[in-house]
Amino acid sequence: MENKQKPLSKNQKIILEYIQKNKKPVKAYSILSNVQKKGINAPPQVYRALDKLIEIGKIHKVESQNSFVACKTSDCETPHATAFSICDSCDEVSEINDPKLFKYLLDFKDNSGIKFDGYNLEFFGTCKSCETS
Ligand SMILES: [Zn+2]
Ligand SMILES: [Zn+2]
Repeated sequence: MENKQKPLSKNQKIILEYIQKNKKPVKAYSILSNVQKKGINAPPQVYRALDKLIEIGKIHKVESQNSFVACKTSDCETPHATAFSICDSCDEVSEINDPKLFKYLLDFKDNSGIKFDGYNLEFFGTCKSCETS
């Protein structure tokens, strides 16, 4: 995709680094308060950068938490088709990377025959470390 060749803007880089540093997904206000010391003060600057980073597949939005997480592969080929597993106990989010699932969803049509351009899946359960503790 041509988007990916474009170098990131300064704001995009700062925000991407902050999201990558965090193991857990981060909310927009927490991003804003952490990048303020680096000179990004206006919420629209943050939202613009987030939109762009999502579009080029560097980060994903976790809809149920309204938060953002760095792409695990840092080069997702399908930025509008994401799947996550989320732990109900600790809110741990991991990106699912299952070629079988993706292939199934790529061919998936609903009963009316609509073929979909994207999806946003979230699977809920208990993660390994919560299960054993
Ligand atoms: Zn990804
Ligand atoms: Zn857990």
